[in-house]
Amino acid sequence: MVTLVTDARRQVPSTDVVLADPRLADAQGRLGRTLVRDAVHRAQQQARDGKIGPAEVADAAVAELPALASTLTPVLNATGILLHTNLGRAPLSAAARDALATAAGCTDLEYDLATGQRGKRGAAMLAALARAVPEAQAVHVVNNNAAALVLAATALASGREIVVSRGELIEIGDGFRLPELLASTGAVIREVGTTNRTTVADYAEAIGPATGFVLKVHPSNYKITGFTASAPIAGLAGLDAPVIGDIGSGLLTAHPALPDEPDASTWLRDGAALVTASADKLLGGPQAGLLLGRADLVARLARHPLARALRVDKLTVAALEATLAGPRPPVQRALRASGLADRAQRVAGVLADRGLRAWPVPTQAAVGGGGAPGLPLASAAISVPAELAAPLRSGRQVRAGTHPAVVGRVSDGRLLLDLFAIDPDDDDVLAAAVLAAATPG
Ligand SMILES: *Cc1c(COP(=O)(O)O)cnc(C)c1O
Repeated sequence: MVTLVTDARRQVPSTDVVLADPRLADAQGRLGRTLVRDAVHRAQQQARDGKIGPAEVADAAVAELPALASTLTPVLNATGILLHTNLGRAPLSAAARDALATAAGCTDLEYDLATGQRGKRGAAMLAALARAVPEAQAVHVVNNNAAALVLAATALASGREIVVSRGELIEIGDGFRLPELLASTGAVIREVGTTNRTTVADYAEAIGPATGFVLKVHPSNYKITGFTASAPIAGLAGLDAPVIGDIGSGLLTAHPALPDEPDASTWLRDGAALVTASADKLLGGPQAGLLLGRADLVARLARHPLARALRVDKLTVAALEATLAGPRPPVQRALRASGLADRAQRVAGVLADRGLRAWPVPTQAAVGGGGAPGLPLASAAISVPAELAAPLRSGRQVRAGTHPAVVGRVSDGRLLLDLFAIDPDDDDVLAAAVLAAATPG
């Protein structure tokens, strides 16, 4: 008599048997052995748990395969916050993405192909930056704005004083405080003025033989209003110390839509000796820190031993040059966008035609991520059922890589998918992702 094997464990096919499936063998070339084995192990566990039959293990393993060897998942930013720090700040232009892909291999990063000799690292990127800001005598690029400030403080104020207003001692986010960052270099923070009012005379009184430089920081993520005073760059430039201005957002020239946002050209024209900025905020490029200004100071920073520890990699060099020299990046395009209401109407129509309770709504978007605090930007969103929020973020289609994740915001029991930070070319991708998330299975 045959005994029925009731223990599902014994019926689960071995890892090697499952891996022999051509789809999984093929995936090993793309994803590597470890990730494919992990997927097989998860499928075997489903069989052990009795969720699937032994014959379904290979199919389940294929379904468990990650889309890429990196777990970073593409996201459509439907939050209405243009520069979302949690979503990696600025998305790169197509030109910058192409440049990244090219730079991923061996390139002439520090090599002159014409002569066969060593060349200057990132020379074309630096030239593109210099061309974009003619007011700067010289330019240098480091890992991020925090690195730019650390380099300036180390090279110009270690063991000396940085004079800064009490109204500009900012926390960037995630607990990182600029004064602590600067003090970590051995510089002494010399606070002047009060939280709400600081005048040129306050700075003048503090400047002396111990002064390394005066630091002017743009309060990029808060606003002090009411009885206030702050010293303009032009007022500080006349004092007996170099003025370093941290503009934060990386606008290289004044932007009509962002009247209160400082830009590098204006601050340099007003007399700043150096301006520092992020490249992945309003400039719309990769993470990097820009240093622009007086040739002697830039040379001192670039030659300082610490500069080597803060230098950018070839991917950043490529993406930043393409951002500066190429077509307008998505962040800059979004700031000029019109027709948002029409786009929301059209996408909502596509969804409603498929039976979804979806309609367009007017919204207020924001720059976010360290730029133009409090400035509302007229925008439009598609309102869809709030139950879609979770599947849009991490549903089956997202895990399989067939759709990007979509992050919106829930308001009054509805999920709002704001189009401000979405490229118009991605409207159909957004609609398809919503329809997929609304489809059970
Ligand atoms: C964002 C910001 C920083 C930090 O820049 P990172 O590029 O993230 O290092 C510093 N200062 C200001 C004013 C900022 O807005």
